[in-house]
Amino acid sequence: MKAGTYLHFLRHALQLRFDSSHLVPLSMNLHVTHRCCNRCVYCSYNREAPNLLTLEVLHRVFVEARKLGCRRVNLTGGEPLLRNDLNAIVAGAKQHGLYVSMATSGAPGVEAHLEAFKQCDQVMLSFDGPYDVRLALTGKLAADASERAVSVFEQEGISFWTTTVLTRRNVDQIDWIVDHAKKHGSQANFVLLETQDGNGLRFHPAPEDVRDLCLTDGEARAAIGHIIALKRAGAPIGSSLPYLEEWLRWPDYSRLQSVNRSSLYRECIALRATCELQADGRLDACSMAFAHTQGVSIFDAGFAAAFRRLCTKSACQSCVSSCMLESNLMFSLNPRTVWNWLERIR
Ligand code: SF4
Ligand code: SF4
Repeated sequence: MKAGTYLHFLRHALQLRFDSSHLVPLSMNLHVTHRCCNRCVYCSYNREAPNLLTLEVLHRVFVEARKLGCRRVNLTGGEPLLRNDLNAIVAGAKQHGLYVSMATSGAPGVEAHLEAFKQCDQVMLSFDGPYDVRLALTGKLAADASERAVSVFEQEGISFWTTTVLTRRNVDQIDWIVDHAKKHGSQANFVLLETQDGNGLRFHPAPEDVRDLCLTDGEARAAIGHIIALKRAGAPIGSSLPYLEEWLRWPDYSRLQSVNRSSLYRECIALRATCELQADGRLDACSMAFAHTQGVSIFDAGFAAAFRRLCTKSACQSCVSSCMLESNLMFSLNPRTVWNWLERIR
C-alpha cells in the first residue's frame, strides 16, 4: 500500500471519529457474482440471484467509489473465479488506484486466473482444515481445489492467507491449520459461522443441516481462547489481538450483533466507512445489514447517490462479524490493530 493511501485512511479515520456526519466508503466488499460451483454446508447464498455487475458497470463503480474516497475493494462471491473477465475486473480496480483483495475457494481452479491473482494485493483462500474435514464441509471440488491452489500459489510466488470458518467439525483442528499456515508462509484467519446467530440461520436454505455445526458457547470460548494463546506465542494468525479479545469477551455467541457499545470502540464507525455491493446491484452499509435494512440499488441513481442514501442508523452498535469488527477497530485507530495490519499488509 502506498504512503499516500495510509495518509488518506488516517485523515478519514480522524474525521469519522470527530464528525459523526462524516461518510466515506473507504473499503468496499464487492460480490462480483453470487454463482458458485461449490456446495459448502454452511453457505446461505442464493446462487440463483441475477448478476447485473457487468465489467462496464464495475468500471463506473470503481470511478465513482474512488471519487467518494474508496481505497480498498475486496472481491468476493459466490465464487469470483467463475467470472471469465476476472483479470479485467482486477486490472480495472488497480487502474483506479484501489488496493485489491480477493476471497476465493480456489474452485474450479486458480490456474486460469493467475494474472488476476498476481495483480491482487491480498489473496484470501477458504481453508477449513485437513482434507477429510474440507471434504465434509465444502465438498470434493473445493477440497481438491484449495489443496491445488496452495501449491500453485507457492510455485507462482503468490502470497495468500487462509480463512477458516469455525464449526464443530474443525474446531479441534486449529493447531493443524495454524501449522499449515506456518509451513506455507501464510497467515491463518478464523471466523465464526454466520448461522451461529439465529438471524443468520433464517437465511440458510436448510437450517437443520447446519444447526449441529454451530459451536456451543463453551466451545466457541475455548476455541477463541486457544487462538489468542497461539497468537500471543507468535503463531502466524492474521487477525489483530484486540479483534480476538473482543471475540472472547462477547457475551453470547448465538447473537453476533449487539445494541450495546463495544468497550474497544465508541460506536460502529464501520457503518459510515464501508459498504457492501451485491451482484444484483444492491448496496448495503455493512455485510450484516441485509438482514434488517432494504439497501439501495446502484441502478436507480448510480453508486455515489446510492451510497449517500444508505441507512447508516443501525440498531446495533457492535458486532463480532469478522471483517466488520476488524474494520471498526481499524477506523477507531486502535493502536494494536493498526500496528498488526501495518506489519502484515504490503
Ligand atoms: S465457496 Fe463460498 S459461496 Fe461457494 S458454497 Fe462455499 S461458502 Fe458458499
Ligand atoms: S455493529 Fe457490525 S453489524 Fe452492526 S451495523 Fe456496525 S458493522 Fe454492521
